[in-house]
Amino acid sequence: GTHRPEGRASLTWRIDEWLLACVANGTGEEVTKLVTTLNDGKVTSPDAVEVVVSPPFVFLPLVKSSLRSDFHVAAQNCWVKKGGAYTGEISAEMLVNLDIPWVILGHSERRALLSESNEFVGDKVAYAVSKGLKVIACVGETLEQRESGATTEVVSAQTKAIAERISDWTNVVVAYEPVWAIGTGKVATPAQAQEVHSELRKWLQKNVSAEVAESTRIIYGGSVNGANSKELAAQPDVDGFLVGGASLKTRPCDDLVNSVDLPEFVDIINAAT
Ligand code: PGA
Repeated sequence: GTHRPEGRASLTWRIDEWLLACVANGTGEEVTKLVTTLNDGKVTSPDAVEVVVSPPFVFLPLVKSSLRSDFHVAAQNCWVKKGGAYTGEISAEMLVNLDIPWVILGHSERRALLSESNEFVGDKVAYAVSKGLKVIACVGETLEQRESGATTEVVSAQTKAIAERISDWTNVVVAYEPVWAIGTGKVATPAQAQEVHSELRKWLQKNVSAEVAESTRIIYGGSVNGANSKELAAQPDVDGFLVGGASLKTRPCDDLVNSVDLPEFVDIINAAT
């Protein structure tokens, strides 16, 4: 995206666009293969893209120890408050302890399948931020909500529940992921994505501050791939991507001599610059 004025270097973050590989599933072997291809992938403007790889909890130490040092690691979730007697939950403190800088919160699968409410996600974001984690907070409407014209209302309410609970947005990225586009191959058109991103930015401007609206990255997720990422990345309010399925794919190299598989994710990273 290009919505930001000149002089953005004065903002607290240095990165323009960024992307995220959400390794939603897979075995240890598959994760290792993905890390190897990512490590070998040629990123054309490494300084312009902040790359975060988000494996399931059990693979976090493996990815953290083997991933190239210019890429970062994120957890896919964490608990809403301090760790304690919450069997099976992973606390923000544990992530900090493992030196995992990022966490994804409020993914639509958790909202839908695990009944995480807007308020619960807001509480999680606030707690994670208070522990120093950087948060990718997901919002997005279902197909039914879109068709009934409720998209702006839904994503605004999801954002409001976060905004009411935090005052510092420095470490928060908003991921707009229309539920109907996640894992379906049915990507939002660049115009649809831009429209909602722009609405979200306006919401932040009106309800938080002009500065937060300007500096908060709003990334798009939902069937992003090597082919559609370029046009989406060109939208002024699209500041990066949250990638699921395509982050696990490879394509054959054009170079027949050094024939190795190339990660599609690297194509997406390179589309942003
Ligand atoms: P997708 O997944 O890229 O496969 O649609 C996105 C996500 O799960 O966040």
